[in-house]
Amino acid sequence: SIELKGMRKRFGKDTVALDGVDLTIEAGEFFTLLGPSGCGKTTLLRILAGLEEPDDGSLLIGGTDITDIPPHRRSVNTVFQSYALFPHLSVRDNLAFGLRMRGESVAERERKVAEVAEFIHLGPLVERRVDQLSGGQRQRIALARALICEPDVLLLDEPLSALDAGLRGQLQVELQRIQKRLSMTFVFVTHDQDEAMVMSDRIAVLDGGIIQQVGTPSEVYEHPTNAFVARFMGHDN
Ligand code: ATP
Repeated sequence: SIELKGMRKRFGKDTVALDGVDLTIEAGEFFTLLGPSGCGKTTLLRILAGLEEPDDGSLLIGGTDITDIPPHRRSVNTVFQSYALFPHLSVRDNLAFGLRMRGESVAERERKVAEVAEFIHLGPLVERRVDQLSGGQRQRIALARALICEPDVLLLDEPLSALDAGLRGQLQVELQRIQKRLSMTFVFVTHDQDEAMVMSDRIAVLDGGIIQQVGTPSEVYEHPTNAFVARFMGHDN
């Protein structure tokens, strides 16, 4: 499991991004951080990835305190909204890049690229250059590149928000299938209630750097514990 205790982060004097977050995410669950723009979702994800240092609080994964462990030594990988792929390289080279950095052999790299390409149904896309792909195709490559490193935890920061509704629906289903098949822990960030409702095992609703409620989609939707959650889940409009 992932345990956050008393997590605090401020930027400058006035911006409190996280105001004491206590949260446990179980291994193998599809967990969503849901809330309006500026509520602290990305900051929380960046702390999990080790890209942001908290002012206070601790982070444990599998019972081990990793608060001071650098990003590349955590068994955590991230898929960003902006893909972060190398546009001028082929899909194959993008997928193999992280493996090469880890010193894996050519044969091992080829085996893993073939495996992930089959799993995500990439087919002939593997030989194409990334700058010749559509947004939805790039997002699938970004996902494949994160999965190929076999992390224990995958962090997804609004990975579908730039896609049109149809493609978004398809990738929602695909992400769920992958998460269940691999029993990997997914921590998914979105500001979209409907997306959170359909995809998640559990949801944490954030506002103002504070967790307002944690529960299953139906708990949060049907039994909001405060006025903010009720309004955000669409009860008043
Ligand atoms: P969005 O959905 O718009 O991405 P978010 O919920 O992910 O929002 P965060 O990006 O975590 O929110 O930001 C939380 C608060 O911290 C915001 O007020 C934001 O302006 C501020 N903030 C985030 N990163 C920085 C930074 N590097 N420097 C200064 N302020 C920051």
